[in-house]
Amino acid sequence: MIDDNPWIFTASDLKQHTYCARIFYYRTCLPDVRPITYKMQASSAIHETEPKRAVRRSLDILGAAEGRRLFDVSVQSAGLRLSGQIDEVIETPHELIPVDYKLAQREGEHFKLQLTAYALLLEETYSRPVKRGFLYLIPKRKAVEVAITPRLRKNVHAALNEMWKIAAGERMPPATDWRQRCADCEFRRFCNDV
Ligand code: SF4
Repeated sequence: MIDDNPWIFTASDLKQHTYCARIFYYRTCLPDVRPITYKMQASSAIHETEPKRAVRRSLDILGAAEGRRLFDVSVQSAGLRLSGQIDEVIETPHELIPVDYKLAQREGEHFKLQLTAYALLLEETYSRPVKRGFLYLIPKRKAVEVAITPRLRKNVHAALNEMWKIAAGERMPPATDWRQRCADCEFRRFCNDV
């Protein structure tokens, strides 16, 4: 960890860094170059409306124990220098369960890390255990349970350390190894080596 860095990131930043560290770099170090695409606007609109629709859904869809449902829950941690707004949190007598709505077909690793970041933030904010969460894949109307494992927790900390180094040093990281992600990336015109 860089002890004297001033950055506070969001769980969404962490998701982007995991998907491609360069996207995180462009957004953080060169914020003026970020274009607003239709895909980004559509995703933003979905995040506005989906939690409201979810109020009408049954808890059975998530396969979770009955509990109180909270929406748009804000969480932050001074220690992690991290914040976030969680689409939904289910509160049971035994646990808190974060639920993140995704306009996606699959539960990618970047989504799992974002969910794990929410788990860490919930644990710190409410001093309650978080053992699992759900990714709700909107196009499939499917909830995928994700165990908040030690591996995912460790990877969140590792990613945050890397993000702070990139931001503090304004160092452009290598391109993603998953080059198929470049095909419809809004930053492609800035990456001359992909
Ligand atoms: S074009 Fe590829 S390497 Fe460049 S930011 Fe986008 S996903 Fe990352």
